[in-house]
Amino acid sequence: MRILLVEDHDALAGQVSAALAEALFAVDRAADGEEAQHLGETGAYDAVVLDLGLPVVDGLTVLRRWRAGGRTMPVLILTARDGWAEKVEGLNAGADDYLAKPFAMGELVARLKALIRRSHGHAHPELAFGDLRIDTAAARVTVAGQGVKLTALEFRLLAVLAHRAGEVVSKTELTEHLYAQDFDRDSNTLEVIVGRLRRKLGDGVIETVRGQGYRLAAGG
Ligand code: CA
Repeated sequence: MRILLVEDHDALAGQVSAALAEALFAVDRAADGEEAQHLGETGAYDAVVLDLGLPVVDGLTVLRRWRAGGRTMPVLILTARDGWAEKVEGLNAGADDYLAKPFAMGELVARLKALIRRSHGHAHPELAFGDLRIDTAAARVTVAGQGVKLTALEFRLLAVLAHRAGEVVSKTELTEHLYAQDFDRDSNTLEVIVGRLRRKLGDGVIETVRGQGYRLAAGG
């Protein structure tokens, strides 16, 4: 699960990045509208946090361009406290949710998780597959009632497959949702992470579909 954070205020961006990383998301940051537009057009993001007041190109314009270009990822806009007109404009431009500044980090993270869940058609935060339970809100995983400790990369990979359970997700696509842009992925290749997950969750959970990718078995 990978988030694009668009915020020109360095201190706030740092705080949000830290909260997102703690919630096990990979995070890319853009500090102006032009960079944001480019990343949003080229990157595979599970959700975007978009400040509206941005240098170079404003946030609303960026959002309209994404939507006009067919980009459908969930977008949460950050607005001024009393900016009701901004909120309305933002929602009409294709935003899925908004948060007025200042906001609590916990609320931002909870709203993003809900947006991601909804974008995959899941209303409930807990996803269940046989003995495997994934609480996407608390980032907790259990197998037959026993807690399983996962690294951020392992949890992200499992979450991507679980949100799309039953579907084959290609290695390329998985990779795009796993790592932040500047992450050194050499020692953490997809195959290595899948291997570790299988050891922790049991062999039958993640299927390899030869030449196509991986799939989380939906039933069980
Ligand atoms: Ca700003």
